[in-house]
Amino acid sequence: MTTVRYDLTRFSELGLAEPLLRAIGAEGYTTPTPIQAGAIPPLLTGRDVVGVAQTGTGKTAAFVLPMLQALSALPRRAAPGEPRALIVAPTRELAAQIGACVQSYGRFLHLSSTVIFGGVSAQPQLAALRRGPDIVIATPGRLLDHMGTGAVRLSGVIWAVLDEADQMLDLGFLPAIRRIMAKVPKARRTALFSATMPPPIRTLAQEFLHDPQEVSVTPAARPADLVTQSAIRVPAADKRAALVDILRGKTMTSAIVFTRTKHGADRVARHLAQEGLAAGAIHGNKSQSQRERTLRDFKNGAIAILVATDIAARGLDIEGVSHVINFELPNVPESYVHRIGRTARAGASGTAVSLCDDAERPLLRDIEKLIKRTLIDWPDEPNRRAPQPNERQKTAAPAGKSKSGSRRRRGSRPISRAA
Ligand code: AMP
Repeated sequence: MTTVRYDLTRFSELGLAEPLLRAIGAEGYTTPTPIQAGAIPPLLTGRDVVGVAQTGTGKTAAFVLPMLQALSALPRRAAPGEPRALIVAPTRELAAQIGACVQSYGRFLHLSSTVIFGGVSAQPQLAALRRGPDIVIATPGRLLDHMGTGAVRLSGVIWAVLDEADQMLDLGFLPAIRRIMAKVPKARRTALFSATMPPPIRTLAQEFLHDPQEVSVTPAARPADLVTQSAIRVPAADKRAALVDILRGKTMTSAIVFTRTKHGADRVARHLAQEGLAAGAIHGNKSQSQRERTLRDFKNGAIAILVATDIAARGLDIEGVSHVINFELPNVPESYVHRIGRTARAGASGTAVSLCDDAERPLLRDIEKLIKRTLIDWPDEPNRRAPQPNERQKTAAPAGKSKSGSRRRRGSRPISRAA
């Protein structure tokens, strides 16, 4: 793998065709993000790319734009059930979001796409596949089902993307990905995106990509610099009260609260409702329509608080989230980085607060090791490095200044944190 730095600042310099530049303009994007500046040129010129980037960095456009350009240049369109491009993503929410990006970036091209995921009826998906979409965006399980029945064949695919590869591995999708990729012709362009680059992902990249160029915008497993992080030592029994205090704080406009379990998410959402704070929960036990409704309410500001488990929140692209609160610390330290990446998106700033009881101390230690920062100074651990003044108890950016003008959708209902 070679790593190259790009310093291109304008979309027109990246080599994108006019209909794509027009779509980008219509989206209101003026400048490519670093992952876009780094990944689009090699992908356009035929290199495979490994992109190390979190959600919120603009990574979706980084692979969708060159993919659309390549497909629009093809003389042959897709036959029924035989897409020309395949994007595999770990969750249905992420697949749906990528699908929406494909639609909007491709609005001036005559290409069609469809999104395939589990948990919903297969019939409309079968009908969509029969219409011969050029691009299929899918979660691994349901895609395999459709491959099994012959509803989709991958023999015409020339462009493949594995998005959030680290998450796919965490969710145990590696065998499924192998079975899927075995059916995609070798002569193809492949892009793999991942927030972190542990050794298993490198192995995966070597397995499926040909001499890829690595484009890395955030050092692996490092949270966005614009997130102000703090942690509060609080007994488990007092966590709910602490959470309510934070949510009633002045700088909070909207928050995602993370719990470790589905039942925990429900319990916290119920408690918040009793306290008069409008909250909705999303997790794997909710039906697709319940999840979609809750997400819609959260995105349009009808509810200011979303309570979620790690998997349910994976890849969610929601702007204007001022706070991420870890009601419970995650078991896997990388999840902490993923969680707090839900705030401070695309250049905005955000606040992450973790509520940590004594039993969670080992989990906190793992997180601190990963992010190379001290979040809580435990008095009975004298050998630990004292936290730096600018690492803790930082004042959150005032709500009004926390987002760059055009990206802010939510009213800045003043609520503030109490860390
Ligand atoms: P992603 O990392 O792909 O989930 O993108 C995060 C957010 O950034 C999305 O809401 C995109 O619409 C937005 N975005 C992507 N590229 C740009 C850009 N060049 N300028 C401004 N916003 C962008």
